[in-house]
Amino acid sequence: MWKGIIRQYPDFFRFSDQKHVVTILEGNTPLIPAPRLAEKINPNISIFLKYEGLNPTCSFKDRGMTLAVSRAVESGSKAVICASTGNTSASAAAYAARAGIKAFVVIPEGKIALGKLAQAMIHGATVIKVLGNFDDALNIVKKISEDYPITLVNSLNPHRIEGQKSGAFEICDSLGSPPDYHSLPVGNAGNITAYWAGYKAYFDCGKIKNLPRMIGFQAEGASPIVQGRIFEKPETIATAIRIGNPASWQKAVQARDESGGLIDSVTDDEILEAYKMVSSLEGVFCEPASAASIAGLIKKNTQGLFNGGERVVCTLTGHGLKDPDNAIKVSREPVTCEPETKKVLNVLGF
Ligand SMILES: *Cc1c(COP(=O)(O)O)cnc(C)c1O
Repeated sequence: MWKGIIRQYPDFFRFSDQKHVVTILEGNTPLIPAPRLAEKINPNISIFLKYEGLNPTCSFKDRGMTLAVSRAVESGSKAVICASTGNTSASAAAYAARAGIKAFVVIPEGKIALGKLAQAMIHGATVIKVLGNFDDALNIVKKISEDYPITLVNSLNPHRIEGQKSGAFEICDSLGSPPDYHSLPVGNAGNITAYWAGYKAYFDCGKIKNLPRMIGFQAEGASPIVQGRIFEKPETIATAIRIGNPASWQKAVQARDESGGLIDSVTDDEILEAYKMVSSLEGVFCEPASAASIAGLIKKNTQGLFNGGERVVCTLTGHGLKDPDNAIKVSREPVTCEPETKKVLNVLGF
């Protein structure tokens, strides 16, 4: 039986006392081949979707949170705090509930997908909406965690990135070797940093013989790394990557350069197109931010990045049901009809 990432990879996540481990059995998410997507984009490459929406709180944040909250408990902490565009708060709330400690979450007002807010609330977190953006929220929780006995569980907490390495371990375990390219959305840039660290850790202990190129994608309206400047007012439909000043900026640049990869941007239209494509062609529903990985793959393919024969993994960072409003907005409306078979058949085109 799967035991959660800490117990599944004990060589990488050591605990002197197992009773401190707080897990909801995160990880072990499927690596789904996407042949119809590949057929459409480039039949000469293989695409795999690391579907992180199937974690306990439906995003990859659980991988880091199990470790961050376990370490907080190990050190005797009774409360955690985070700033969040949504998924970090959902995850922190759930793991704090599991641990029996308090969670305080500070979110930017009006920019949180409905499902994520519901999660933080139902798990019993104290939720504070600040009238500002994510970066404002982060500055506040950083200050509070410095002055009070409350553990910060944003990705500035090194245990978050440490736990998120497990995504790379699982991909190598599934494929038997690393992919040629690993594509993912970039917000605070913790995940691209973590995957690269995970691949390097597997390489260093001899479990894999080569390393992938990391390709990361920001939304054009929130592309500080691509443009080399802080965005004071980041804007994108992909709220999970609506970040103007990424916490792991330098580490992401390092991951890009060490791996021989790239970090580029995609437009909101390209993100929405990819979002519809992966759900309609593969039956895999992710949130808009996640689709930036596919939008980026499409853009780079068009620019001739691939020679043929490459294996590409796209991390789909969060589940589509977190953000039903966007799904409804980009889809065809249901047809309203009288309760008569003939009329329904008429709509069906028979
Ligand atoms: C947090 C998050 C991201 C961005 O990840 P970073 O580590 O901040 O770059 C992307 N997609 C989803 C769904 C997220 O929750």
